[in-house]
Amino acid sequence: MAITITKPKGTQDIFGPQAALWQYVEGKIRNVAALFAIEEIRTPIFENVELFVRSVGEATDIVQKEMYTFTDAGGRTYALTPEGTAPTVRAYLENSLHNLPMPAKFYYVCHNFRAERQQKGRYRQFRQFGVEYFGSYSAAADAELISVAHLLLTQLDIENFVLRINSIGDKTCREAYNEALLTFLDGHKDNLCGLCQERMGKNPMRVLDCKNPACGAIVSGAPVPLDHLSAEAAAHFEELQRCLTLLGIPFVVDKTIVRGLDYYTRTVFEFTSADLGAQSAICGGGRYDNLIESHGGQPTGAVGFGMGIERLLIILEEQGKLPQISQEVTVFLGGMGEAGAKKARLLAHQLRQSGISAICDLTDRSIKAQMKYADKLGAKYSLVIGESELETGVLAVKCMENGQVVQVQIDKIMEHFA
Ligand code: ATP
Ligand code: MG
Repeated sequence: MAITITKPKGTQDIFGPQAALWQYVEGKIRNVAALFAIEEIRTPIFENVELFVRSVGEATDIVQKEMYTFTDAGGRTYALTPEGTAPTVRAYLENSLHNLPMPAKFYYVCHNFRAERQQKGRYRQFRQFGVEYFGSYSAAADAELISVAHLLLTQLDIENFVLRINSIGDKTCREAYNEALLTFLDGHKDNLCGLCQERMGKNPMRVLDCKNPACGAIVSGAPVPLDHLSAEAAAHFEELQRCLTLLGIPFVVDKTIVRGLDYYTRTVFEFTSADLGAQSAICGGGRYDNLIESHGGQPTGAVGFGMGIERLLIILEEQGKLPQISQEVTVFLGGMGEAGAKKARLLAHQLRQSGISAICDLTDRSIKAQMKYADKLGAKYSLVIGESELETGVLAVKCMENGQVVQVQIDKIMEHFA
């Protein structure tokens, strides 16, 4: 039979040992978040398209090329979430979460959707671990947030990653910087791609992000935000470096990081790994002090990051750090004859109710085939219930590893496995 329908390009089916790995990584994420008292937030998988146009920015790749949008029967236009920060900000405002102790700390494991060209580590549906801190302007908050990502990478035993930090300034210096950048770009305008010529009018900093190699070559000589910081923004960046040093978190200053979303101010950072190949970013984030206000909230200092979970798994595999995870089955209960099979199903049910994993046959296999099945499942113990067991009330419980057999009363079977 030929399969006629396949999954959409850039998506993945996750099952078997791969699904167990996802659970392993998600477990680590939740443990790390708890160490910082970061609360989980779950927002919808689709939002009003305006939310992203207004926060991510009109001149960004995400909004111009990558969003999956659709219009419902009521004529409302939505987007499948391309990132997690804007929905978290929306939920924060809509649910008056500013009443929480400050800073309010949120984390999520979300699905993101971007219509990008599929490559290793680049998918159209991918998952991010994201963290957002709302309510602090302090560089110590930037450093603690960065330490969340750092601690997770360390706890996953990932090696060879680099933290790159930069400052792209804020309202106090953006105008002067944009002027310097525009003067530079004007001199090269004819050689920039059409999209960049448009970006120059909307948000010239987005030209620095262009993936077009010709534009990349031009902007490598462009003025950088770090050389145009106001005194306040420069002081914040220096304080961040002192805070990271205090925590013993190594970093490099990388003047070329500007991040692809419009909402960032001051701190921007990335964690990269050479083990990822071309898609080298594991995690990206930064400060966005104007975003909450621009959505109708009080001025609120905020900083966050998004970490690509598929890329984490690629690095874990590349570095041989994947744990061996297998399903745990305590006992297989074989059944012979109708009465034996019934009793096996009932006992299995009761064992599960006591928290003991128990499996029985559901396909009318021969007893020989049932034992093969028990072996494949990796059950620790097996037993068979047939006519004679029902008569004597005694079961032979076999340890699958060493073949040892113990006789156990049927009515003592719960206690035996407890
Ligand atoms: P890139 O430069 O690789 O496109 P980005 O700047 O678009 O990354 P962000 O929007 O900051 O990425 O998202 C944060 C993280 O999410 C990235 O560092 C990466 O690990 C992951 N990520 C981004 N886009 C994808 C994708 N299409 N597939 C898988 N992971 C992704
Ligand atoms: Mg991208």
